[in-house]
Amino acid sequence: MSAIVNINGRICAEHEAVVSVFDHGFLFGEGVYEVLRTYHQQPFLFEPHQRRLRESAQRIGLEVPLSDAEMLARIRATIDTLGIPGEVYVRILLTRGVGEFSYDPAVCRTPTLVIIVKPFTPPPAHIYERGVTIALVDVVRNHPRSVDPRIKSNNLLNNALAAQQALARGAFEALMRNYRGEIAECSQSNFFLVREGEVLTPPLEAGLLAGITRAFVFELGKELHVSVREAVLRDEDLATASEAFITSTTKEIVPVVKVDERVIGDGVPGPVTRRLLAAFREHASALAASAPRM
Ligand code: PMP
Repeated sequence: MSAIVNINGRICAEHEAVVSVFDHGFLFGEGVYEVLRTYHQQPFLFEPHQRRLRESAQRIGLEVPLSDAEMLARIRATIDTLGIPGEVYVRILLTRGVGEFSYDPAVCRTPTLVIIVKPFTPPPAHIYERGVTIALVDVVRNHPRSVDPRIKSNNLLNNALAAQQALARGAFEALMRNYRGEIAECSQSNFFLVREGEVLTPPLEAGLLAGITRAFVFELGKELHVSVREAVLRDEDLATASEAFITSTTKEIVPVVKVDERVIGDGVPGPVTRRLLAAFREHASALAASAPRM
């Protein structure tokens, strides 16, 4: 993997990257995270990722101990230590920290902040050219009043169990419904479909992560004069969709051509998805190239 890791400001090699087993992130799964990637060696959409990290942290009663500028400097120092010419994957983890065996947050004085940087490996080109099959799984997405999916939590059991079902069926991703039976999101991505030229995605209120790429698709829609809006989606909506796609930071926009045995549209990546993907890549590249290098 050849990662470089920053633990509370100390940069170390992969094999030295250890945190205490008494960290509440390990003991109780009390932690939040973010994943970013670079384009032109610049962290892409750093501010919205940072904002979401603060919101996730706040939802579990934790504070991000660094300002945006300090976090960016720490990320940059870790990237520089990795010292590769290409793009990198950046994972920020913030846990409650080390403390006694108690759910009382007061027992942990200092949060643990870990930044993992490794070379970014893009998904294979064929998934964009041919599209992927995803599986509608029976693992229900967390109820928003239990572990709210808006918290980008290190506690990923709900997601991992869903993904296991999809992988067992040979699918690329797992599509989950919420407790009301409406479509929510995938295990590691947001879900969209296209119907009569309109792009539809489940509302945040359905219980899902407010994806940074998802938000970017709304922006792209405005620019391309394609309507992108939230709509409650159910299984039957898959039958009337002409296209579908999933979004995430590391995968951008991936066309979905089948959900289990249901063929979406013509069974090939559709024109709206392809236009959005092309615009996404163009913007990501242009935004990064114009960003001031710190
Ligand atoms: N939903 C879930 C459950 C995820 O884990 C991810 C990946 N972080 C996403 C959606 C996509 O979010 P983003 O576009 O911010 O990467």
